[in-house]
Amino acid sequence: MHAAWLLAKEGCAVEIFEKQPLAGGMLRYYLPIFRFKRDGIDKKIADLKKRGVKFRLKTEIGKKNPLQKIIEKFDAVILAPGEWKPRLLGIEGEGLKGVEYWTEFLLEYNTGKVRSLKGKNVIVVGGGDTAMDCARVALKLGAESSSIAYRRTKEEMPAIKAESAAAEKEGVRFLFNVAPEKILGDKKIIGVVFEKTLQTSEFRGSIKKSGEQLKLPADRVIIAIGQLPDTCVLEGSTYKNLQHLPGKVILAGDIAEEKKTIANAIASATAAVERARKL
Ligand SMILES: Cc1cc2nc3c(=O)[nH]c(=O)nc-3n(C[C@H](O)[C@H](O)[C@H](O)COP(=O)(O)OP(=O)(O)OC[C@H]3O[C@@H](n4cnc5c(N)ncnc54)[C@H](O)[C@@H]3O)c2cc1C
Repeated sequence: MHAAWLLAKEGCAVEIFEKQPLAGGMLRYYLPIFRFKRDGIDKKIADLKKRGVKFRLKTEIGKKNPLQKIIEKFDAVILAPGEWKPRLLGIEGEGLKGVEYWTEFLLEYNTGKVRSLKGKNVIVVGGGDTAMDCARVALKLGAESSSIAYRRTKEEMPAIKAESAAAEKEGVRFLFNVAPEKILGDKKIIGVVFEKTLQTSEFRGSIKKSGEQLKLPADRVIIAIGQLPDTCVLEGSTYKNLQHLPGKVILAGDIAEEKKTIANAIASATAAVERARKL
């Protein structure tokens, strides 16, 4: 939307293709409402519409609307589909009932499909802003306990300090230097086995396990260990990957940035518009 705004200000005809019913990306669908009000996004959309930007909502670029066709129609295409696929843990028990990923958990909460977690012990695996949000949401949904399990030290945790402090203040517990090894249960979860990790001298160096195990009871496990691009945007076209697209296509936002933050997405959109101007 920032790229669209910059281009529309210059008098370009801009169309936004958005697969969801509403525009706004992660800020609309994933950031918990108690932390981020949506009225700023709505104002931005109203301003864009006033400037003539067309919103094609519920329109997924992919099988039905191939990227190739869109490229033919426009002088430049800024591709910013974000990264909405969760990274998997790849451990035993990940398929058990009660294990879920940050994507479905936060989406359900933010779209009002709230489920009560009353009396449940929740473990969130991860250490970024997404993990903090999941742990805080679990408490708001009535969880008996909500614990963050992070495989490195507190100092190495990537979450914004103010967000981890807010989570702690609300009652989220933190376990550092623990790597999940196995989720226990039969049909339902009963707990998680962690292996303690050793502090490495190298900041964010490779993880070394100590051999010491720790077993914690849990009714729910939420996995929030990272995000991956969803390549459905390439379906229906001949392009094989996001790295080899025609010069008219400029990647922007999370998909193009190593640090996946709002500030970086905005800077990336500005750089993409610069490149589009030169086409
Ligand atoms: C829970 C959570 C908390 C966060 N907290 C913070 C924070 O506190 N501070 C911070 O700076 N950052 C935070 N972030 C990160 C921030 O939200 C992202 O970096 C930013 O939203 C990325 O913007 P984007 O435009 O690249 O992608 P997105 O916001 O993901 O938008 C991509 C859009 O493309 C659409 N799309 C995808 N595929 C298609 C397709 N094939 N066809 C049509 N449309 C498609 C999607 O529906 C979406 O609307 C957080 C992220 C999460 C998940």
